[in-house]
Amino acid sequence: MNQSAQLDRRFVWHPFTQMRDWLKREPLVIAEGRGAVLRDLRGREYLDANASIWTNLHGHNHPKINAAIRRQLKKIAHSSALGFANEPASLLASKLIAASNKSAGNANLKSQISNLKLKKVFFSDDGSTAMEVALKLAYEFTRRTRGRTVGRASPRAGSSVASPHPKFLSLDGAYHGDTVGAVSAGHIDLFHKAYSGLLFKTDKVMSPYCYRCPFNRAKPERADARDYRKCRFECVGLVEKKFAAQKKKGNPYAAFVFEPLMQGSAGMIPQPKTWLKQVSDIARGHGALLIADEVMTGFGRTNSQLKIKNSKLPLFACQQENVQPDFLCLAKGMTGGYLPMAATLTTQNIFDAFLGDYEEFKTFFHGHSFTGNQLGASAALASLEILQSPASALARKNLENVLRNELQSLWPLPHVGDIRQVGLIAGIELVRNWRTREPYELRDRAGIRVCETMAKRGVLTRPIGNVIVLMPPYCTTTAQMQKMIRALREAVTEVFIETRSTR
Ligand code: PMP
Repeated sequence: MNQSAQLDRRFVWHPFTQMRDWLKREPLVIAEGRGAVLRDLRGREYLDANASIWTNLHGHNHPKINAAIRRQLKKIAHSSALGFANEPASLLASKLIAASNKSAGNANLKSQISNLKLKKVFFSDDGSTAMEVALKLAYEFTRRTRGRTVGRASPRAGSSVASPHPKFLSLDGAYHGDTVGAVSAGHIDLFHKAYSGLLFKTDKVMSPYCYRCPFNRAKPERADARDYRKCRFECVGLVEKKFAAQKKKGNPYAAFVFEPLMQGSAGMIPQPKTWLKQVSDIARGHGALLIADEVMTGFGRTNSQLKIKNSKLPLFACQQENVQPDFLCLAKGMTGGYLPMAATLTTQNIFDAFLGDYEEFKTFFHGHSFTGNQLGASAALASLEILQSPASALARKNLENVLRNELQSLWPLPHVGDIRQVGLIAGIELVRNWRTREPYELRDRAGIRVCETMAKRGVLTRPIGNVIVLMPPYCTTTAQMQKMIRALREAVTEVFIETRSTR
């Protein structure tokens, strides 16, 4: 075992990892990367089929991002945003604002959203902190601005005071990060239950998981469940009910928290067309703020099917359904997947609620040492420039088509129940029997076994339970994409079909 592997086993505690299992084997030590290829210390090559946990956009070792970081390094790596501005962070803020206020071409939208436009950027470090910032801002904004009529016992009955407990509504199965606030907005019991004593209470509402939806009356077909579902959008009705019920309690929801178009860690669960628009309108109608978590979906992951007129393609999932959030949370791909940096974009309205005289202490008392880091901002600027080039838009569109075509070859496998693709994200749900949708149990470790077998074939990804995730870097070639799908097809066959027939 090489020295790095030995040191790792001795000293490192890995995230989301059962360390007893980890310590049973020699870890794979990644030493280098180029494009979509990762190389380990022994010189073996692998395709990075989940873009290094959904972060990498343009491939590893991209010459333009490398050069931007090197240029910045010659000046300064980091200075504090507490008290000082810096060049790359201020430029990046302006570019993020410009990119976030584009719609996918709805002319009416401009007038509808002019006062909802995103105008301010709060930088932080990762997806969890971007969400934490949005939650705190929404909470405090609501307390300050939403008057609540004091009940009968109050001597000042009828006067308006700050709403004491602004409440949040988020989606069933939601995951928004691992800080305590972000965990509170999440609803994955497996991750979150242990910490329930630490959390504030949020409500959840059904998310549209068409493949396993109790309202979907369609029998399983060999197609994406969104395309053959038989329902009346009962899931949207439930959102309306939830908002109405909370309003009756006299404390309407302060904010609605969601991942647009596809929920990631919930199991790559895509939303049928118009769901996002419908529920956002309901939330707005009930006076709730919209918190869009685009930590996974942002920066071109979901929109390559849009018509490319020029390089000004919308980069965010919300824009595809013309939904204008009050908070847009970005991380992962923001620096092209190079450095930990995140941003929470918000409106002038929210910003103004925190203005006041120094001694009023309306300040947003929140921040991190590396807020607005120059190296991260330089990488993000270079990544944005690549993303907004016509060549990148075209490459994404082509790669999405290749992915769509290649995925078709998985339908004949009886252990593939659903294949869900949104842009350059695909989730393949493994089942015992596609005709009944019978799932594998946790102890079957179906997803883990398939991914381990794919690794032997030179393709690295990580499952979410029984769902295999493919999220290739945008520079992935057709041949590399074909290799990813071939490895998955062969792995499913080896794990479930060949092993069963030899038993
Ligand atoms: N939101 C979403 C949608 C995510 O997918 C993740 C991470 N998987 C997070 C937030 C948290 O991001 P981070 O791991 O960078 O804290």
